[in-house]
Amino acid sequence: MWVYRLKGTSWELDPLVPELFAQGARGLEEREGEVWAYFPAPLDLLRGVWEELPDEDWLLAWRRDLKPALAPPFVVLAPWHTWEGPEIPLVIEPGMAFGTGHHETTRLALRALARHLRPGERVLDLGTGSGILAIAASKLGGEALGVDIDPAVLPQAEANARANGVFPRFLLGSLEEALPQGPFSLVVANLFAELHREFAPRYAEALAPGGRLLLTGILREKASLVREALAGAGWSLWEEEGEGEWVLLVYGR
Ligand code: SAM
Repeated sequence: MWVYRLKGTSWELDPLVPELFAQGARGLEEREGEVWAYFPAPLDLLRGVWEELPDEDWLLAWRRDLKPALAPPFVVLAPWHTWEGPEIPLVIEPGMAFGTGHHETTRLALRALARHLRPGERVLDLGTGSGILAIAASKLGGEALGVDIDPAVLPQAEANARANGVFPRFLLGSLEEALPQGPFSLVVANLFAELHREFAPRYAEALAPGGRLLLTGILREKASLVREALAGAGWSLWEEEGEGEWVLLVYGR
């Protein structure tokens, strides 16, 4: 990435802005009495100064711009964030694994956990990713097991749990591998509609009597597919919540 540095404020240089974007600028920012325009490659523009940026600068800028994510009663923080509010902090390293709190479905699941989990209950987090939901369940006093079919995410989930001072268990596998560890009072699963449909006939095997299912990762337009499959397997829909184009469905029997 290259930066084209022009002396002056963004107000003074405003007339130049359309031209910079027309030439392929990806973004502009005002810094230290200059305007910095970012380009993928240098161009033959001679008014300012061209400078190549090392990749770390982008990493730093990204770290600086990443904000804490609120999902009451939780707030999801990166390790370098500080937070003074009353929320329960979940410290998650934003790495390769899904589950940084910046997706609607993770936040829907966090809020649903807080509504449904009672201290001491056993929770299965099916598709744990970063471990965020298992970690949140542990912080609420639950006894959590996180499973995932992707072996790459498990060390990240373990490390995130350690950073939060909680110790849910993590296991490589899926519903099948989790069953011998059950029964659970809650299954929370942020997967996708077709997979919930596939698991519908088997979810009951994971749950103790009175158990509940918190299902998300479901696009609004595919919710009917999950509703039909769960109704067919004898489940009653207790709650439905949405954020953006995503929904979370809560089932009991
Ligand atoms: N639980 C985290 C959250 O709510 O942010 C991560 C959810 S992410 C959308 C889905 C995760 O499920 C991924 O880590 C993926 O590897 C895992 N996964 C996909 N198919 C699965 C399956 N059949 N069984 C278990 N995990 C699965």
